[in-house]
Amino acid sequence: TQLLNISSLSAGIEDRPILHGVDLTVGEGESHVLMGPNGAGKSTLGHVIMGDPVYQVSSGTITFNGEDVTELSPDKRSLAGIFLSYQAPVEVPGVPLYSFLRTICQMRPELKSTAREFRKRVGEIADQLDLEQSFLMRELNVGFSGGEKKKIEMLQLLLLRPKLAILDETDSGLDVDALGVVSRGIEAYREQCDGALIVITHNTRILERIAVDRTHVMVKGRMVAEGPAGLIDEIDKTGFERYESALETEA
Ligand code: ADP
Ligand code: MG
Ligand code: MG
Repeated sequence: TQLLNISSLSAGIEDRPILHGVDLTVGEGESHVLMGPNGAGKSTLGHVIMGDPVYQVSSGTITFNGEDVTELSPDKRSLAGIFLSYQAPVEVPGVPLYSFLRTICQMRPELKSTAREFRKRVGEIADQLDLEQSFLMRELNVGFSGGEKKKIEMLQLLLLRPKLAILDETDSGLDVDALGVVSRGIEAYREQCDGALIVITHNTRILERIAVDRTHVMVKGRMVAEGPAGLIDEIDKTGFERYESALETEA
């Protein structure tokens, strides 16, 4: 059964089209990789799937779990089970990360728990990610590094247990420590949550530990290729030029 079905999706900002007739289908529990050169529209697609109001959908549909979510608010999509990384945590001086995580869980009926159950659950997740318990007591303050934001995202991912996680990893510059947390997070999500995954990345190291079902290539707002996991290695060697020149010949 299909979890996510995107059909002929075009979207952009104001009078600037970015995505052109994008199709994408993700089945329950599948792992997909989305690749493409800088500026192809990969992050935009992630944001449009999440319902970011910065972008307007001009045509096409997004169906999730059998429901047309094209017009739903980001909140409702989140409740329906879609998760997008790269959501910088709110910056609230004086509020520890632990309390923030507790608050987001208590807002969801299916995740409500006693303080004691929550403490146990967060502790387990921090252990799985190999995070220091002291990290949980960090203030949600301005000035988290890229790596620290990734750690918070992975904590959120494993706590919220979404049906679909879209992880936008294009923002490289993560140190080895943060890369480890991300790959452990993805592995734990796959094993424990049985969720589907779309990883947007150039960094094939993150992919070493996950079995990829399908790879998609996007160039200039269009899906230009789709294939098995082996396509990642091919692109690693040959780059995106052939897809780019194929598009130019067509135009
Ligand atoms: P990728 O993630 O593949 O690098 P993006 O989705 O970030 O690509 O961007 C695709 C194109 O859309 C780029 O030309 C980018 O400048 C433009 N774009 C994306 N979001 C915005 C925005 N909020 N405002 C203006 N331009 C945007
Ligand atoms: Mg980019
Ligand atoms: Mg991007």
